Amino acid sequence: GLKGDKMAVKKAEKKADKKEEKKAKEIRQSAWEKYDKKALDACFALSETYRQFISDCKTERECVDESIRQAEKAGYKNLADFIGKKKKLKAGDKVYMSNMGRAIALFVIGKKPMVEGLNILCAHIDSPRIDAKQVPLYEDTEIAMLDTHYYGGIKKYQWVTLPLAIHGVVVKEDGKAVNICIGEEEEGPVIGITDLLIHLSADQMQKTAAKVVEGEDLNVMLGSMPLKGEEKEAVKANILKILKDKYGIEEEDFISADLEIVPAGKAKHYGLDSSMIMGYGQDDRVCAYTSLKAILDAPAPSKTACCLLVDKEEIGSVGATGMESRFFENVVAEVMNLVGEYNELDLRRALANSRMLSSDVSAAFDPNYPGVNEKKNTAYFGKGIVFNKYTGSRGKSGSNEASAEYMATIRKIMKDNNVTFQTAELGKVDQGGGGTIAYIAAAYNMEVIDSGVAVMNMHAPWEISCKADIYEAYLGYKAFLKDA
Ligand code: MN
Ligand code: MN
Repeated sequence: GLKGDKMAVKKAEKKADKKEEKKAKEIRQSAWEKYDKKALDACFALSETYRQFISDCKTERECVDESIRQAEKAGYKNLADFIGKKKKLKAGDKVYMSNMGRAIALFVIGKKPMVEGLNILCAHIDSPRIDAKQVPLYEDTEIAMLDTHYYGGIKKYQWVTLPLAIHGVVVKEDGKAVNICIGEEEEGPVIGITDLLIHLSADQMQKTAAKVVEGEDLNVMLGSMPLKGEEKEAVKANILKILKDKYGIEEEDFISADLEIVPAGKAKHYGLDSSMIMGYGQDDRVCAYTSLKAILDAPAPSKTACCLLVDKEEIGSVGATGMESRFFENVVAEVMNLVGEYNELDLRRALANSRMLSSDVSAAFDPNYPGVNEKKNTAYFGKGIVFNKYTGSRGKSGSNEASAEYMATIRKIMKDNNVTFQTAELGKVDQGGGGTIAYIAAAYNMEVIDSGVAVMNMHAPWEISCKADIYEAYLGYKAFLKDA
């Protein structure tokens, strides 16, 4: 009968699914199974310094500041101190250059001439968040509020009823910068965005997810207590007094400020086995941190090694601090000049002869939402660093496809260095897709491949990564700097 046929079809589908799953497992090795006690300790030790990094560094500026601190500790010098001076650079020298405090390039000069190409690790340090508007403060019914404009792609409904913090900088008219960090002290206050109680949500619950919480509803509550003796907008006045007392800033100073509202609190170990990390901004600080750590730990390379951490990826890589900026080629020109190799043609040759791992997070397979992935070509937790031969949407639109030859080189480097890796696409064909900055570097005619660490909850306030993948990414980046 019809019912029996349907059941047979279901059974066959289930069998095919199981077969596909088995195949996916065979292709990918588990990094966990490879680790002995020593490797496991190293994996967890790296995850711990990473957990601290993303707990402390929640803006691109904080990432650059911390990168400089760690680089200087590792013997790196500021390239700005060399430019226009008689000083020169030679093989083994380590330098960094900050781009407006929101992006950074680090170099270790190789033994080979730079014209033979650089090995470049690239990742981005901006993350989705909620920014304060230029005129943000207002009072509504004796509640002080902060008006915002979100940055990057977020599901707005995920950002309400959470403890939030403000990180950023306010620059006074005289140029003096005041660093702001509110919401991170153990006993200090946090802020947040409210949501409607379920009891009164009859209308709201009928809306689509895109409209449940809209952009103009992301108003942050700052306070409820009036300033004594103040008659007009006394609650807002009290907040302004607190800001004046603590930071010396006035209401009009918000005009010249970069203030980012981010999830408050430290990143956490995740899972009963502590095998994962839950934290804000892992897209793409998980690749940025492991790339930074890889170049800081790298032994003197044959080819010049570079780590490039950029801003503005989440909004299209535009602007002076994004990947589209001339900063990168300018700074390579400066370094070539300081090693005595600069001329326009050799600069172009150096860029064209370079190789890059353009690292960004991949979507990890999520057992709660299996339908969006094709199991053989999906990234999994614990299966190592991810390589995406291409990304893009629909017919690979907008992707930078790495060549078979370059893919073969990468495969060999990973194998030779015992790095666990996997290959993946972002979801099923025609399900969606993702952007990349790979094509921007590829425009210099260099070999570029998308790579990175798989995460769950991507772009949510609290993203999840797997410690084995963090460690394998670090090992993969180090191997690339050595052997590419
Ligand atoms: Mn990203
Ligand atoms: Mn992203």
